[in-house]
Amino acid sequence: MERTYIGDAGAHVGETILFKGWIDVRRDQGKLVFFDFRDMTGYIQGVILPNRAAEMAEAVKDARPESVVAVEGIINKRPERNVQADKQNGDIELEITALTILNKAEPLPFEINVDTKEVGEESRLKHRYLDLRSARMQRNMRKRDEVQKYVRDFLHDQKFIEVETPILTKSTPEGARDYVVPSRLYPNHFYALPQSPQQYKQLLMTGGVERYFQFAKCMRDEDGRGDRQPEFTQLDMEMSFVDREAVMQMNEALLINIVQKLFPEKKIQEIPFPRISYKDAMEQYGNDRPDIRNDKEDPNSLAFCWVIDFPFFESTSKSDNPDAQGEWTYTHNPFSRPIEEHMSNLMNKEAVGSILTTQYDIVLNGFEIGGGSIRNHSFEALSKVFELLGHSVETIESDFGHMLQAFKLGTPPHGGIAWGFDRLMMLLLNEPNIREVMAFPKTGEGKDPMMSAPSTISEKQVEELHIVLKKPKQ
Ligand code: ASP
Repeated sequence: MERTYIGDAGAHVGETILFKGWIDVRRDQGKLVFFDFRDMTGYIQGVILPNRAAEMAEAVKDARPESVVAVEGIINKRPERNVQADKQNGDIELEITALTILNKAEPLPFEINVDTKEVGEESRLKHRYLDLRSARMQRNMRKRDEVQKYVRDFLHDQKFIEVETPILTKSTPEGARDYVVPSRLYPNHFYALPQSPQQYKQLLMTGGVERYFQFAKCMRDEDGRGDRQPEFTQLDMEMSFVDREAVMQMNEALLINIVQKLFPEKKIQEIPFPRISYKDAMEQYGNDRPDIRNDKEDPNSLAFCWVIDFPFFESTSKSDNPDAQGEWTYTHNPFSRPIEEHMSNLMNKEAVGSILTTQYDIVLNGFEIGGGSIRNHSFEALSKVFELLGHSVETIESDFGHMLQAFKLGTPPHGGIAWGFDRLMMLLLNEPNIREVMAFPKTGEGKDPMMSAPSTISEKQVEELHIVLKKPKQ
């Protein structure tokens, strides 16, 4: 018999069908044994009637919650008094005629048919595959996929293509520490994992792609501060021949569509999204990601705003950028272009501190959910920025030579943005942290208790990588 999905059960009243899935709950009531069965499409109640108890006794003995089963039976309408109108399949019931245990579950480390948020993080992540079966985690994964599909379709309709960029690459100046990977073939040389695909996406513009996007994994080696993860997902985009307005409008339209189509219960406070200058945000809210919600109690209120007109440079004495070396460091992205009126100030020592960049950040309910800029695609102007940032001629050549070279070989004007996709999903799903919207996150301390990562490696591996391990400090 072919498998029927539980979500389609209502269309099969009176028929004998076969379900495959999990036992969600088991209730023994005297001579009757009730089960709630679950598959990826939902839940249904089943019952073993006393006249069949003997033939199924063996299987029933092992039918513990979370065991995987194949179950055959007849779909019956429930008598009026037993109908549970608020439940999926609450008007029908499966009269079980055969039960096969495909994989028996031992007693569980924690209950998963309740909200698992209360379970200790270490245990939840150690058994993440169990946690993922819970209703809330299933909703989160499926909703995330719906949004990703929506985004992909929306952007493809606008002539974007998705291009994958490398994970093994070279350090990029995103302002955090890199994760590095030792090279076996080239002793004492290292790859870096990308903090973002920034340089690649710009070089794709040189490569004639014109409209690029990617759900990109980004890796930043930061201390486990707040709600950070060593790796996270960006919705990364770059477009050729656009100005700031075009990028902002396209992104605003996409965000509005996602909310209206996929989260109709949510209400966007103001459309078009208000725009606030960095200066006003700092003066009025004391930060550059203002929470402008009128009603902070309402979980369905979404207050988007743009923050623009950021200063390009700040004095290194005020910065926490680990790469800062000269008198000035960049505030967001060294590849950004100053606003047009301030382009010439790059050449004017006195005016450097007052240059505004084309950077735009998108903020939702007090969280920065994305940021980007129009890029500096002129060879001379970008060289000048690196010089102002205190790089020597040699490091400009070794670290950014490929970008500068590309900008001498026909690079169109371009700009883009990246969304912190996990953070956006967290806010849309009313979750308290980004771990709830990732399938396999790390703990707050950057560990994966399920895989036991990070872990030691074999002596042979160490040897091959030409590295020598130090004894850890006690
Ligand atoms: N690459 C930048 C970031 O990760 C975003 C951008 O400017 O597109 O913050």
